[in-house]
Formats: sequence, C-alpha cells, structure tokens
Amino acid sequence: MLRLRFHGRGGQGAKVASRVLGTAAFLDGYNAQDFPLYGAEKRGAPITAFTRISRENIMERGVISEPDIVIVMDETLLSDPQAMPLSGLKKGGIIFVNTPNSPLETKERYNIADHVITLDITKISLDMIGNPVLSGLAAAVASRIVGIGEDAFRGAVEKELSGIISDRELLVKNTEAALYCYNAIMPVQIKTAESIREGENVITIPFEIALVSSPAINATGNTPLRRTGNWRVFRPVWDYEVCTRCMTCVARCPDGCIHVNEDGYPYADYDNCKGCLICVEECPAKAINKVREMHSRSGEGDR
Ligand code: SF4
Ligand code: SF4
Repeated sequence: MLRLRFHGRGGQGAKVASRVLGTAAFLDGYNAQDFPLYGAEKRGAPITAFTRISRENIMERGVISEPDIVIVMDETLLSDPQAMPLSGLKKGGIIFVNTPNSPLETKERYNIADHVITLDITKISLDMIGNPVLSGLAAAVASRIVGIGEDAFRGAVEKELSGIISDRELLVKNTEAALYCYNAIMPVQIKTAESIREGENVITIPFEIALVSSPAINATGNTPLRRTGNWRVFRPVWDYEVCTRCMTCVARCPDGCIHVNEDGYPYADYDNCKGCLICVEECPAKAINKVREMHSRSGEGDR
C-alpha cells in the first residue's frame, strides 16, 4: 500500500487533487481511497487530503499519520507549525514541494534530509490556465511519482474536473497543464520501509485489526468517548453459518469497528457501532442480519 498526504491551502485544490489521484489509480487497476480533512471552510487555511493506493482491498480507515509521499502545494506550509506537512513521513519517503527553488535549495532551506522533488506548479498554472488552482497539477506530480499510467491519469483528470468545471475551454487548459506537469516529473523508485516490488511502487500489506489500522478513529477523544453505539436503531448480527470470511464488511465499515475473532470471523464493537448497516448492505453472502434495538446497550458484542 502507498499512503499519500496532500497539504495545501483552502482554495488551492488539495481535496480534488487527492480525488483525481485516487480515480487515476482506480482507472489504472488499483484499489484507492481518498478523502479530505479540514476544519471550518476558510480560503487560505491549511487543509490536508489523503489517498491510499493498493492492489488489495484497503482495510485502513482514518487519517494517514505516516505517509510514504507528501505533496506540499504551498511552500509556506513547510514553516507553518500547525500544518507540519513533514510529520510522520516514513524513512525513505518522498516530498514534493511546489516552489521555484531547486530540490537542493529546498532541502537546505527547510533542513530536509529526505528525497525532495520540486516544480513550480503555481507558475505553470498561471501560465497555462490563468489562475492558481492546482488540483490537476498536484495530482499530476503525485500520479507520476506513484507510477500511474498517463492514460489513466488523463482519464481521471477529465472525469473529476469535468464535474466541477463547466467551461470546456478551461477544462482543456487544466488537462493540458496537468499533463505538462505529469511529464515534467521523472518516475521515482519509492524506498519506504514497506519494501517494494521491482519496478512497482504499489504493494500488498497484511491485514491489520481496526484498532491498529484505524488509530485515529479508536484514539481517545473520538468514537470511544462518544459511545456511538447509543445511536443504533438496528444492530448488525453475524450468522457464522453463512459467513464466508471474505472481510468485505470489515473493509466497508465507515467507523472501523468490525474486528475479527480468533477463528477469523468478523464481529462488531457494539460500543462504537452506530448502526448504519452498511455492513448488512455490503455483505455478498447476506450473512449479517439487522436486529431491532429495543434499547441501546453497549459492550454486548456477539462474539
Ligand atoms: S452497522 Fe455500520 S457502524 Fe455498525 S458495524 Fe456495520 S458498518 Fe460498522
Ligand atoms: S462481508 Fe459477509 S461473508 Fe464477508 S466476512 Fe463479512 S459477514 Fe462474512
């Protein structure tokens, strides 16, 4: 699995960039997951967006605290103590910085030891599009670093940007600028701790239980304190006679609260299961039944 984190400022397009990358990866045959994280909507405020890419089902949920690749869409974020775009970057990871400076100058200025790639995508955006919206361009450099094919990338740009840009001429300009950036970056061999296959950056990782793979959800101050189990009207109940242990429900639970018992069967953490019943809908074997809660009680998992 590759984990990417985009850092930008409100209005630059970090959220869309993560989306375009996720779609490009999907069109290139991978599984992908992308989502943003921001507080109150405010132009110029630091925002973060994330993309996970894997050959296998993506079991992880929550923010990416240890990325393989960081895309810094605004250089000033590197000295912003709240944004901290380099926090958690894995050893051997890659940092892209949108700057007119060279990689060496950038490393020295910000005291960065890791692999730095630079390109002035703001200038390219202003020259080719006429405004500093960087979504397609940041997605382009990320796609190139990851190793996504050009056809898949082009398809993703056209699909995602056509939904938000109605002006055909502007859409063409965005696509051309994105492809220019894609081809301005050289493919990179990523050397983070999860070693990679020769010539391929996207790898398989073993299954992790939700407490490990979704630490942000399970961390103090999140779901456990809120006891979202109290929200349930129906509870999901597993029929192990029917369950094939495909783990689809584990992957689909938006709160990461389906665990796996010692026999390899899933069960819900009823303290936190909010009863959305996505697991019931998604189970291909119809092995999960919905049972009416007469009163919500926590800690009664059918394990
Ligand atoms: S009902 Fe929703 S929250 Fe509960 S286990 Fe299923 S998917 Fe997760
Ligand atoms: S999705 Fe259904 S069959 Fe697959 S592990 Fe979950 S309950 Fe079992």
